[in-house]
Amino acid sequence: MRALLLMNLFFLCKQSFSQSDSILLKRHVDYLCHFAEERNASSIEILNDAAQYIHDAFEQYATSTFYQRYEISGQVYRNVLASFGPPRSRRLIIGAHYDAKGMGADDNASGIAALLELARLLQAVDSNLAYRIDLVAWSGGETASDKPRNMGSYKHALSLHDASVPVVGVLQLESIGYYSDSIRSQRYPLFFYRDFHGSKGNFTALYERLGMGVFGGMMKSLFKQYSKVHLLSFKPLIRFKKFETNDFRSFVRFEYPVLLITDTGKFRNKNLHTTFDSPDRLNYHRIMQLVDMIFQSVIRFRE
Ligand SMILES: [Zn+2]
Repeated sequence: MRALLLMNLFFLCKQSFSQSDSILLKRHVDYLCHFAEERNASSIEILNDAAQYIHDAFEQYATSTFYQRYEISGQVYRNVLASFGPPRSRRLIIGAHYDAKGMGADDNASGIAALLELARLLQAVDSNLAYRIDLVAWSGGETASDKPRNMGSYKHALSLHDASVPVVGVLQLESIGYYSDSIRSQRYPLFFYRDFHGSKGNFTALYERLGMGVFGGMMKSLFKQYSKVHLLSFKPLIRFKKFETNDFRSFVRFEYPVLLITDTGKFRNKNLHTTFDSPDRLNYHRIMQLVDMIFQSVIRFRE
């Protein structure tokens, strides 16, 4: 009994002192944005280089790191996965796409850098996790969007569905690094939200669909306990179609609950999908706070 108490105390101490690192976050974003051409299917070597970088980083921290390969028109694409916790238990997915249009720092090297830092933090608590956490870097989230079934997230969701994998829920990280305290720096899918939430783009949005179960609500209440970031929650009666990227829809399609974490993308960051979406424009301290919030929450999550 005493040994158990001491073990729990040790685990809690380890959790409390775990913190992400803004320098490492920036290093990951810098690497993913350093290529001479866009990291997408138009330059398959660059896309593969990015996948390899993510795989190598995951491999430092996870006991199980692997590619999920799929083929489109004779070309092989790769999702990159790292698993933590008991392998056969229910699964929580944390995912972000790694391909890009434009330079792709906010969209979505920011999400990938967060995944890599989460891997580093999860390593320390791997054996204490109550369920399995899969970190997944999806290919084709941005550039295969005209054909949703060709996207990495679709192939991933389909494989979970076909194998009847019990999925607790999905956290989607989509553009999480761009913030502004300027007036009129924020737009909304419906204009009247500005009256409620103001015009400063200084918050992180949490978005979920109505009718997708309790996962989103449970995660959000944990986030609120562990967040140092201004969060705004959206669960609208009328869907925000522009928040629902194809990665989001890939999972909703199979009825897996998804909670999107985003800086709202184009509703704030005018540089998205251009060469101006560069690493120097991101707020790494905010990304760091988000990583800490997600880490502290997922390790405490219980159904
Ligand atoms: Zn994106």
